[in-house]
Amino acid sequence: MDFTGKKIVVIGMGKTGVATAKFLGKQGARVRVTDEKPFDQWNGEFKQIAREKWLEIGDYNTRILTGACFVVPSPGVPPDNTLLVEALKRNIPVISEIELAYWVLKVPVIAVTGTNGKTTTTTLLGEILRCSGKKVFVGGNIGTPLIEYAEGPQEDDFTVVEISSFQLQWIRKFRPFIAILLNITCDHINYHGSFAEYSRIKKRVFANQTKEDFAILNAADPEQEDLDRIIDAHVMKFSSKRLLKKGIFIKNNNIVLRMSGAKEEQYPLSIINLPGLHNVENVMAAIMAARFCGCSQKNIIEAVAAFRGLPHRIEFAGEKNSIKFYDDSKGTNVGSVVRALETFAQPVILLLGGRDKDGDFETLNPMLAAKAKKVILFGEARDRIASLIGKDIQTLRKTKLKEAIESAYKSAQPGDVILLSPGCASFDEFANYKERGNFFKDVVGNL
Ligand code: ADP
Repeated sequence: MDFTGKKIVVIGMGKTGVATAKFLGKQGARVRVTDEKPFDQWNGEFKQIAREKWLEIGDYNTRILTGACFVVPSPGVPPDNTLLVEALKRNIPVISEIELAYWVLKVPVIAVTGTNGKTTTTTLLGEILRCSGKKVFVGGNIGTPLIEYAEGPQEDDFTVVEISSFQLQWIRKFRPFIAILLNITCDHINYHGSFAEYSRIKKRVFANQTKEDFAILNAADPEQEDLDRIIDAHVMKFSSKRLLKKGIFIKNNNIVLRMSGAKEEQYPLSIINLPGLHNVENVMAAIMAARFCGCSQKNIIEAVAAFRGLPHRIEFAGEKNSIKFYDDSKGTNVGSVVRALETFAQPVILLLGGRDKDGDFETLNPMLAAKAKKVILFGEARDRIASLIGKDIQTLRKTKLKEAIESAYKSAQPGDVILLSPGCASFDEFANYKERGNFFKDVVGNL
């Protein structure tokens, strides 16, 4: 598409919005930008483009839409945003940054989506491809936005991109040659309006794929049942729950990869240095994608064995008086809390709370009954969570995370695990999940 002289509106001046504006400006577009936040809270990189002739800073008002050729919202802008609703009413196309990037992308895209496990799987797959001698860009919803990559020389063999539901909301032609859907559980309901809508949007990752592409699905996820019927791509599934005729699954302490016309392959589970069955699922999805990219079994084993996981995902955070502490600050929804609890054989004192995203905490009850010795509720969400979890589960309420940690420690006994897996966003007390996780580690260190 020729962008020269086109008026394009970018809403939201975070990292992605600024990168989008920069890309469009370089392509000759006349870019109008706006944000509901005051100017001093815009991404620091905005300064680099603030004085460009092609840039116009507009009020946060529907007037900014006049004459616009299309609108690019940042991932944080919800679909019921007044500017977006007005744009759609005026038939001005709304497209996401990954869609825009896709229009100019020459390198094949591997898209990783799902409620949980995206960053882990994206990072691991990137490592496997690198270890196999491929040139690869890893980014998207993590690190560098795809649009920033698209602006550069694009000299890689593959791009592996983490894709969120926010980005999938506004795609039109975006067509990954491999798309992975790890799982769909309740999250971001306050953004999408309902679980049904969130689930529908997640599945859009396959919408433009053709017979030449690959779709990697989770056979154990009830939300993905029957999904293969509506996908045109070549479907392969992984399962951590049962054996499959074709696909990738667990058998006798091995991951088994069974593809038609090829010899069965085995990858010992013992090479995985990550906690929990959910991480085996991430590894299975990454192995399958890597085989579609032509990586050898030997290189895959090497890369998986070398991968140590990422911080704040059930990360060991220390031990005091035989009580172990784990930081799962990235566990920001109920699905990830369930998987974190599942990981431990010992009694767990769980720290749960923060800013609620309308989480389905009532579904936690069976896992809490099985694993949690006590639940310390903290932050803004503490009262709502207390009203949703079973009365027979021992709970305590604290305002701040620090008090919650100290109280957990007081009531713990040798052999217990204290787990921060908050099931909520961090923004009531912290800038983000990293700050919350680091704070947890600091407090633990000073106990
Ligand atoms: P995402 O990028 O989707 O948020 P991460 O890899 O950052 O995923 O992990 C986020 C949270 O989800 C962590 O608490 C992690 O332990 C948990 N998690 C990781 N993989 C999975 C999975 N396959 N299923 C459920 N939970 C997972």
